[in-house]
Amino acid sequence: MTPTKHCTQCGTCCRKGGPALSREDLDLVRQGYIRHDQLVTIRHGELGYNPGTDRLEPVPVELLKVRGKGGGWTCLFFNEAHNDCAMYAHRPATCRILQCWQPEALLATIYQNTLRRADLINPNDPILAEIERHEQACPGRVFSDLLAQNGETADLARLTELVQADLDLRAEIAEKTGISPELEFFLFGRPFFKQLAGSGIESVAVGGEIRLERRKKQG
Ligand code: SF4
Repeated sequence: MTPTKHCTQCGTCCRKGGPALSREDLDLVRQGYIRHDQLVTIRHGELGYNPGTDRLEPVPVELLKVRGKGGGWTCLFFNEAHNDCAMYAHRPATCRILQCWQPEALLATIYQNTLRRADLINPNDPILAEIERHEQACPGRVFSDLLAQNGETADLARLTELVQADLDLRAEIAEKTGISPELEFFLFGRPFFKQLAGSGIESVAVGGEIRLERRKKQG
C-alpha cells in the first residue's frame, strides 16, 4: 500500500492527545480561543509521551497541553461526529506543523519555545507563589523517578507521602485562594494519583487517606 502523503483528516493525531502550546500560540489564549481551564500543565520532570522515542519519559521542560476529553487524551477540540477540529482556523502551531507521513518537522520543534504557566499569569498574581510552593513540595521529577522503578522496587512509603502531600496542598491552596476547581489542572498539573496509570501501582482511599498498593499480577 502506498503511504498517504497528505492529510486525510483521519483524526488519529487528535486522538493521541491535544497539542503542547508554543510561544506562537500566546495570542490564541489572549484572544480567548483557548481558555486556561482547557489546558493541563505537564510539569517539568513529569512523565510525558515523547513522539521522538515513542516512550513515556520525564519531560525536560514545562509544557501546556490542550486537555483531553473525559478521562482520556483525545483533544478537547476534536469533533468525533465530523472527524474534524472545532478550532481548525485557529489551531495551535503544533497542529499546523504536524504531517504524520513525515514527522521530522514536528520532531525538530519538540520541547522548543514552549509556553509555560507563568506566561499566562499576571506576574503580580499571588497564585505564582503557591505554584512555586507546590513545585518545591511535590517535584514532578522525584515522583517520576520513583515510578520508573516499575512498582517492583518503588519506595511505596515515599510515593504515598508525595501523593498525599500533593492532594493536601491542592486542597489547602484551593481553600485559601478560592480558585475555581476548573483551573486546577492548569495551575498544578495532574494530581500524582492520576499519574499512576500503567505503573503497576494503584491508589486506594481509606478513611480520607490514600494508600498505595502494588497491583497483583494476573495468572
Ligand atoms: S486542536 Fe484541532 S487539530 Fe489540534 S489536536 Fe486538537 S482537534 Fe486536532
